[in-house]
Amino acid sequence: MQSTQNPTQSLMYITNRPDIVFTRGEGSWLVDSEGKRYLDFIQGWAVNCLGHCHPAMIEALETQARRLINPSPAFYNEPMANLAALLTEHSVFDKVFFANSGAEANEGAIKLARKWGKKFKNGAYEIITFDHSFHGRTLATMSASGKPGWDTIYAPQVPGFPKAELNDIASVEKLIGEKTVAVMLEPIQGEGGVIPATPEFMRELRALTKRHGLLLIVDEVQSGCGRAGTLFAYELSGIEPDIMTLGKGIGGGVPLAALLSKADVAVFEAGDQGGTYNGNPLMTAVGYAVIKTLTAPGFLDGVRARGEYLRTKLLELSAERGFEGERGEGLLRALLLGKDIGPQIVEKARDMQPMGLLLNAARPNLLRFMPALNVTNEEIDQMMAMLRTILDSL
Ligand SMILES: *Cc1c(COP(=O)(O)O)cnc(C)c1O
Repeated sequence: MQSTQNPTQSLMYITNRPDIVFTRGEGSWLVDSEGKRYLDFIQGWAVNCLGHCHPAMIEALETQARRLINPSPAFYNEPMANLAALLTEHSVFDKVFFANSGAEANEGAIKLARKWGKKFKNGAYEIITFDHSFHGRTLATMSASGKPGWDTIYAPQVPGFPKAELNDIASVEKLIGEKTVAVMLEPIQGEGGVIPATPEFMRELRALTKRHGLLLIVDEVQSGCGRAGTLFAYELSGIEPDIMTLGKGIGGGVPLAALLSKADVAVFEAGDQGGTYNGNPLMTAVGYAVIKTLTAPGFLDGVRARGEYLRTKLLELSAERGFEGERGEGLLRALLLGKDIGPQIVEKARDMQPMGLLLNAARPNLLRFMPALNVTNEEIDQMMAMLRTILDSL
């Protein structure tokens, strides 16, 4: 009811946001309402895989908006079918359900696993997940997440998510019992601080789940869609999961997510799963343009080359400043600072003049880099130069 000078005051408080309003974006750059430019190495939290306002996305949005925006989720539409076919063509999966957010795709994965357990495993429903994992902000996905404090914030939790330790196969094996139906993990823990599951661990996990007749679910909301230098991060270990979820990069910045499974795991019956916007043609048309761009010849080679370039530059800086190295895959990387100066760097980088730099500290002792997948080496150089200036000023 209040009328204020500053319309941002009408927004519900959920977190501390800086006093900036962004008004334009192009590629790796954002511009605020005062005209200040920012080099963006956050990109909507590893979302804008093609950078801001990529022409292929604008074209898809404009064309589809003039053609058809929403026929209802009870009917097929062309972009939804075309994107599903494109995803199955480029992955080991056979069936796709579209959702609007990563959390919703993961909810779908949890439901699918529970349904499969009901059908084939005597009602088994427990899904083993991992400490420090992040699967979303719905009640079930918060319960699946291993984020410290999330077990009590909206208690009681949704039951059925015992926690193992990443890269420790014995910790998983110990939790397997009669009620276990699946193991779910991020191939690279993103919010946890860019911690890759080792290829050996992924292969051990696949063998262990096979041996016990359990499903293996990969949450590739952050690691998927080219981010790790391959179209999907499970490819890095050569395994075939049963279920995968996608979000973030699949829409390149528009709300789109997906749940994919092998044919024999796709056991939903009529009415088991749905959602008003599932397969919305406006969003899936954009997703189609994004995945087409990512799978064009040479694109992922370029991501790997630029990831390697960023890795080299971060290692140089680490050696020069006495930091503790770096880790990650492709263009999802972290610089390990060895001390809790991450948040301070993030703030100084943003407030830098005349141009700002947008960085993220997933944990206080590291910086996470998730630039557009088409970032240039020159932009990486510019980011490194700005970062050095900030480090000098600490
Ligand atoms: C961001 C993220 C999610 C949640 O996605 P939303 O679109 O925010 O619901 C789930 N899993 C992982 C690995 C993520 O990085």
